Amino acid sequence: MIDTDTPIQYIKGVGPKRALLLERLQIKTLHDIFYYFPWRYEDRKNIKKICALSYGSLETTLGEVVSTEIITTPRKRMKILELCVKDDTGFLKCRWFNQPYLERYFTRGQKIILSGIVKGTPFAGFGFEMENPDFEHIDAGDKFIHTSRIVPVYKATDGFTPKQLRSLMFSTINSHVSIIKDFMPDDIVQKNNLLSLQEAIRETHFPEKFFDVDTLNKGISPGHRRLIFDEFFLLQFGLALTREKKTQEKGISFNTNGLLVREFIKRLPFELTNAQKRVLHEIRIDMQRPVPMNRLLHGDVGCGKTVVALISMLTAVNNDYQACLMAPTEILAEQHFINIHKMMEALGIRVVLLTSGRRVKPFDEISSGRAQIIIGTHSLIQEKVIFKNLGLAVIDEQHKFGVVQRASLRKKGFNPHIIVMTATPIPRTLALTLYGDLDISVIDELPAGRKPITTRVFFPAQKEQVYTLINREIAKGRQIYIVYPLIEESERHDLKCAKDGAEAFKKVFPNRKIGLIHGRIKQEEREKIMMDFKSGNIDILVSTTVIEVGMDVPNASLMLIVHAERFGLAQLHQLRGRIGRGNHESYCLLIAYPPFSEDARRRLKVMGTTTDGFRIAEEDLEIRGPGEFFGTRQSGMPDLSIANIIRDVDILETARREAFALAKVDPYLKNYPLLKMALQRKWMERLELVKS
Ligand code: ADP
Ligand code: MG
Repeated sequence: MIDTDTPIQYIKGVGPKRALLLERLQIKTLHDIFYYFPWRYEDRKNIKKICALSYGSLETTLGEVVSTEIITTPRKRMKILELCVKDDTGFLKCRWFNQPYLERYFTRGQKIILSGIVKGTPFAGFGFEMENPDFEHIDAGDKFIHTSRIVPVYKATDGFTPKQLRSLMFSTINSHVSIIKDFMPDDIVQKNNLLSLQEAIRETHFPEKFFDVDTLNKGISPGHRRLIFDEFFLLQFGLALTREKKTQEKGISFNTNGLLVREFIKRLPFELTNAQKRVLHEIRIDMQRPVPMNRLLHGDVGCGKTVVALISMLTAVNNDYQACLMAPTEILAEQHFINIHKMMEALGIRVVLLTSGRRVKPFDEISSGRAQIIIGTHSLIQEKVIFKNLGLAVIDEQHKFGVVQRASLRKKGFNPHIIVMTATPIPRTLALTLYGDLDISVIDELPAGRKPITTRVFFPAQKEQVYTLINREIAKGRQIYIVYPLIEESERHDLKCAKDGAEAFKKVFPNRKIGLIHGRIKQEEREKIMMDFKSGNIDILVSTTVIEVGMDVPNASLMLIVHAERFGLAQLHQLRGRIGRGNHESYCLLIAYPPFSEDARRRLKVMGTTTDGFRIAEEDLEIRGPGEFFGTRQSGMPDLSIANIIRDVDILETARREAFALAKVDPYLKNYPLLKMALQRKWMERLELVKS
């Protein structure tokens, strides 16, 4: 009996040898064949007369075989099969390279259909030519898989041509599509006007009913819609379960109005913004409840997330629990430590730092409970770290971590409250997909008095202008960041590097204090340099992108990014977020070394036009495409194979609504065993609850 889990080896036309080839395409079972979708479609329906073919386009035509000939090229001894066909309007020449065996497929007088890109051969007598066209015979009972229809194009692999793969897909889908069982509850299918699963699979591979090639290529045909809905539905159902499970757990109920917290807020040198107050209120309500909080704190760079996290951490400390803050880089952890340590010491609170670079490791203080606030990198999740009683874990710049790390940190306490913070400016609906199991708080307001940042692009020849601007800022008492893409010269790249840059700037500004910081400088040394920069002892800090996240020196008002053409938009935005943090007018100078790509030009232009993180993210998406944009950040979540998180936002919302509704009434899917199986397949072992 063949079912969807049958290994492809046993499917007609595959066998052990081809099965190995297909495995390279991640196709292992019949199910995988059904879900191996074409990456594009070609319209070969419109059969044209030869004289009506147009150069440079993909065309389909019908003709009669006139002659075949095999030519061997003199130098490379390549065998070329030349075929001449005609219709009542003209002749067409076709060539196939190194496939002489094809000759036996053609006999004089036969009628064939050909699809391929039309080339012109103005010197060769013939008007039209196709190279390696797909062909099918009219009389021989060919099923018109490759021509005279909307033709799916599959990514193939060595030893398996796209055409062979297409034939295999065609026969497999025709013979076996009927064994697919629709796992989606009927009422959801009907309410949302979805195709049945069988029809959707068939139409997505070999469109019969819905054959608008543009719609297919955009991935918005009815078949696609159904499959995209499925994908989002399964994803959201998993998230709904994860969330449901968490709300059933017991957490720690905190008193949120302790003395420490009030004292700390009173001592702040600024008034919290309304957005910060609103978010703090949301967090307080969560922390009072005896259910673990799982909250995403979302806000553009510089909006002041850290202080919100700190106040929440103080709440835990006030209740005699420990709180920790996990940062993605050592530099950021160190810098958090310096700031937080200073503020907390005054309140008599013990703050420690744990990173792999630091020699002294405060394991004992953490386990004894003497350390009240613990700051660190992913070192915090290593086995040796045992908290006495972790009440709140904060993860800064969550997008740099995976879901797995979040879960590991969580296990360090008994259902601690969790806050994850991110500055990745993504629209809310997208956040729902990436962080769908979290509640979301947004800080959508920058502290008052921030002056806009002026951004300008310079070419290397304009460096005198850049120096003048730098001098002017230092003369005003401000400080400067200079960022390079590399630490040291490298043989692979012809790029300026931080080490040489620091030397060069010492010569240009002999009277200024210049510091150099990068990932390879030792921990103690680095801490000292950062302290020096923060306290104003260093005028110019030359660095690599280690300062990308979190650095907070409000007196720095100018950033020079060398080789700006080499950086991605998100990174440029993050880097620029290091300035404009005080109430000084700030400048971001981008030096770009030509020649650079069209994409680089677009990125620089975007940086020059806006400082709005959301707009930058949208442009970034447009330039890079969603796949790459989300890439590894999704680690821990099932991949989306057919859905596109940007294009399909409306389907996502509907699917989410339906999934959450169903998860509420039937979380264990007692009434929907097929759906349960589909869910297991999608999430594998990643979703504990589905197993139960
Ligand atoms: P991010 O959200 O990017 O992590 P930070 O928490 O580092 O931002 O805050 C950026 C800067 O803004 C810090 O210097 C911080 O002290 C300051 N800040 C935070 N909240 C306020 C506020 N309400 N008013 C003025 N400055 C603030
Ligand atoms: Mg931050």
